[in-house]
Amino acid sequence: RAKEQGKNKYQIYHSGMNLQSYRTFILQNDLRKAAEREELILHYQPRIDAATGKVIGTEALIRWNHPSWGQLLPSEFIPLAEETGQIAGIGEWVLRKACEQNKLWQNEGLPLTRIAVNFSPLQFLQKDLIRIINQILTETGVEPEVLEIEITESAILQNENIITKMLHEIKGMGITISLDDFGSGGTSLSTLKNIPADIVKIDKIFIDDLSVNPSQGTAFITSIVSLAHSLKMSVVAEGIESEEQLNLLKKLGVQGMQGFLFSPPVPPAELDSLLNRGLPEQFTYKSKIEKEV
Ligand code: C2E
Ligand code: MG
Ligand code: MG
Ligand code: MG
Repeated sequence: RAKEQGKNKYQIYHSGMNLQSYRTFILQNDLRKAAEREELILHYQPRIDAATGKVIGTEALIRWNHPSWGQLLPSEFIPLAEETGQIAGIGEWVLRKACEQNKLWQNEGLPLTRIAVNFSPLQFLQKDLIRIINQILTETGVEPEVLEIEITESAILQNENIITKMLHEIKGMGITISLDDFGSGGTSLSTLKNIPADIVKIDKIFIDDLSVNPSQGTAFITSIVSLAHSLKMSVVAEGIESEEQLNLLKKLGVQGMQGFLFSPPVPPAELDSLLNRGLPEQFTYKSKIEKEV
């Protein structure tokens, strides 16, 4: 009957899907059209330099303005895009859009900041990835030194040899590489030794731990910082929500700070003033912290 009505997808729903798989099914279909309908957007979260309190970079984070379900977060649709192979196209769109936005900020005369883009492990399996990155940098006029590619520690493990090789090529282009969600991905020290990362981004669970269990939290951060520094990598903390966490992280030698304490990810227009003027008064914490230390 549904076939007669030309509504195959609802037929599939009625024949026994639960609500979750119904939603997944609809989203997978809708995602195919999302890019051309301009429903995908990027928000940006600032990264702050611990020493100066200035914005040193932004991280592009994708959102999907779904016509019936409102704004969806990447956790709901990136895995679907990975399953259906759409991640290659979406990843390319994200990279181009983020570079274009960074160039817009440059053209507005704002201080030069780095642009960090999250990559799915599947993107590293694209044979033409290097060519695509080169092409996007050329087309948008963004210098490779301005671009940072974030990959999670656990993602690398899915295809360690190919991804590590690709990361070496990317690093060779002058692009910065950061290891996202560091500490929770189960990388062995020998793997870490082979990954040409410039930055480790400490996973939010360790930042949360600073509040829940300060002595254990401090021990973990201390060992991550010392490991990173001995491998000549710098350290960024993500998910900072309180001044207490910030103060501790600064004391422990963390250089880059991201979190709701400074700003959630926001549409690009909302970041203009932050990039321009630096942080609002309450976050001119440099002198405050230095007095405490
Ligand atoms: P991520 O790269 O580790 O990004 C950090 C996530 O933590 C973001 O969630 C961000 O909104 C959130 N966050 C930042 N500061 C705080 C804080 O202080 N408190 C709390 N509670 N959360 C904070 P979001 O935007 O939902 O992204 C989730 C993940 O989705 C990202 O984790 C990244 O792995 C992935 N992702 C986002 N954009 C893209 C993309 O364009 N491509 C790919 N492949 N993955 C993406
Ligand atoms: Mg990230
Ligand atoms: Mg992360
Ligand atoms: Mg994450």
